[in-house]
Amino acid sequence: MRIVAVHERTIPLAAASRNASISFDTMTATAVAVVTDATINGKPLIGLAFDSVGRYGHGGLLRERFIPRLLAAEPSDYSDDDHGGIDPDKVWAIVMRNEKPGGHGERPGAIGLIDAAVFDLAAKQKGLPLWAYLAERYGHTAESRVDIYVSGGHYRATDDIGQLREDIRRATARGHRRFKIKIGGIPIADDVRRIESVLGILEPGMSLAVDGNGTFSRETAFAYAEALSNLPLAWIEEPVHPLDYDLHRELAERFASPIATGENLFSADDARNLLRHGGLRPDRDILQFDISLSYGIVEYRRILDTMAQHGWRRAQCAPHAGHLLALNVVAGLGLGCAEIAIDEAGLFGKLTSAIPVAEGRATLPDHPGTGLEASPVFAEIFSSVLQ
Ligand code: MG
Repeated sequence: MRIVAVHERTIPLAAASRNASISFDTMTATAVAVVTDATINGKPLIGLAFDSVGRYGHGGLLRERFIPRLLAAEPSDYSDDDHGGIDPDKVWAIVMRNEKPGGHGERPGAIGLIDAAVFDLAAKQKGLPLWAYLAERYGHTAESRVDIYVSGGHYRATDDIGQLREDIRRATARGHRRFKIKIGGIPIADDVRRIESVLGILEPGMSLAVDGNGTFSRETAFAYAEALSNLPLAWIEEPVHPLDYDLHRELAERFASPIATGENLFSADDARNLLRHGGLRPDRDILQFDISLSYGIVEYRRILDTMAQHGWRRAQCAPHAGHLLALNVVAGLGLGCAEIAIDEAGLFGKLTSAIPVAEGRATLPDHPGTGLEASPVFAEIFSSVLQ
């Protein structure tokens, strides 16, 4: 099977929302299609991928380096001798040729898109949903149902708490039991009241996490940790800068609340440094490396190996971003929990809004591959990418 074309397109996400760190008004993402000369059910076998959120599109890197490298390779360079079709590990090695180690920058997000499209293609060739393909390929028990949490709780200009409580009630009615809201956009005392107003409407067994988006100074982080220490929170996410491992260690030593972090670390190297130096606790803390932005599934499996070497279980993994790739990987590789966007009108919310949710668990669909085409808005995006 030969890869005959790779198409990419930048898509504006145009979500008028803001967290403690950045505004999303100008955020973009990349859609990728890897086209082969093979057919399945009379149609060309094509692998699709859509970016994660938060790091803008990756078109420049794809056009200049990674797509030409892949198209220059011979089918014998990437054929999967054990499973048939295309081997994602071999593709990964091809696109990473002549890349120096370290200094990961934006490269992992571009590679992650090609990786995701090739896994989509490989699963489609087997006629399996991606989660089942991953379970089979890597020897896990296939499980279509995964624990999920719903994230949102951005600040609103008017009736912020009223609208937030309404969001939580609506998500509860949809079947969600785990929630995450932002912190850091208002003074601490007001944030505590905002959190308490949500805790007050949760039913027994439900949980709430909060997300600081890595913006707090040392002083603010300690003030938040102190103020939140008596609240029953599932975790405090990115309380400090994602690369300040020492400060993570200080917080973990002083406060018992679980810490979640990792969504802004993009490689197995960075994950290893966090686990070596961040003082995080395998019995409670949560690791959120973003699979798509961290060189894709091939590299994510290296991250899982690194975690195991440091005494971490996969149950502590809750990959960042409510995209279908992460949902499939959580199910296929036996991770702890997946994220879903609370806003079903946003682009990512549209992707997951049709997924059945009950008792805080999502049941993943049976469509072959990642399942992107099943969403009408994504089917439209990819038909434009392929034109
Ligand atoms: Mg976050």
